[in-house]
Amino acid sequence: MKKTILPVAAIAALITACEQPSQPSGETRSPERAAYSLAIHGGAGTILRAEMSPEKEAAYRAALDTALNIGETVLRDGGTALDAVEQTISWLEDCPLFNAGKGAVFTHEGKNELDASIMDGRGQQAGAVGGVTNVRHPIRLARAVMERSPHVFLSGRGAEQFAGENGLEIVDPKWFFTQNRWESLQKALQQEAGQNNKHGQLKLPDHNPDHKFGTVGCVALDREGHFAAGTSTGGMTNKKWNRIGDSPVIGAGTYADDAACAVSCTGHGEFFIRYAVAHDVWALMMYKGLSLADAADLVINKKLVEKGGQGGLIAVDKDGHIAMPFNSEGMYRGFAKPGERKIMIFREQ
Ligand code: ASP
Repeated sequence: MKKTILPVAAIAALITACEQPSQPSGETRSPERAAYSLAIHGGAGTILRAEMSPEKEAAYRAALDTALNIGETVLRDGGTALDAVEQTISWLEDCPLFNAGKGAVFTHEGKNELDASIMDGRGQQAGAVGGVTNVRHPIRLARAVMERSPHVFLSGRGAEQFAGENGLEIVDPKWFFTQNRWESLQKALQQEAGQNNKHGQLKLPDHNPDHKFGTVGCVALDREGHFAAGTSTGGMTNKKWNRIGDSPVIGAGTYADDAACAVSCTGHGEFFIRYAVAHDVWALMMYKGLSLADAADLVINKKLVEKGGQGGLIAVDKDGHIAMPFNSEGMYRGFAKPGERKIMIFREQ
């Protein structure tokens, strides 16, 4: 495997917050069932080749490569799918290129409110948090909710209190600030003010088709045959009223069950909640006997398209097959299994 070198110092600076761990060694290819399998996404949306500079593309590819290395190292060394997902997403949360942790988008009020969830395919245990503002790694908090509380889903101040009580790293909310996300909010606010003046009425926060997403997710199958899935996000720019999207909603943004698959979604969250997207993939496999590829394709490219929902997902099945469908222009994505690795951004890859 080749290590991607960042060509431009300015772009390299974008990901200086992201440590670069060592590379895993080569692997042999397994023609049938992969010994382990890992997939990641860094969000779906309007990602066009024409608008992407080579430097920016290189920075994203390097970040995805590093994230894959982290998860693959855990799985290759016999670690659990759960650890691989948590560690991979924790790193992506620290990487300012993505809309999760540092680099999260801003709410209407200029805050970062973070959502995350994790699910363990063994026994379908799950943990989730919504609207946290000072926890450096929301995915770790989601795991703590799963493992150390009797609950599945905590939100806001209570979730932050739980984080403090359980020794999670608490940071000043300024930690999550990035200039480009701040500028995106200013643009959205200006557009919204223009709209409101034009129509003489308050415009509700809506999905902006030009919005670049950047949510992160990871699914994994470990050597023991167990699955895990996780998703982490800042949500959508200019969100109001403590809006929470699909990412922390088990069955919408995240799902894992050792009987079938692990799924992590990204896209316009309201649609993913209403159509229980992650669970729908699982249900089509369990109840209709569809393959992972067919189930994921049906949900993203037919059902969601008919409803007008934009986005995509990553998923892995019991043989380590990976599906990564999306109905937007692009999706930051990649996978790794013994002897195979690919990183993709645009549609035609
Ligand atoms: N699904 C996320 C949300 O709606 C956003 C994204 O995936 O880009 O909060």
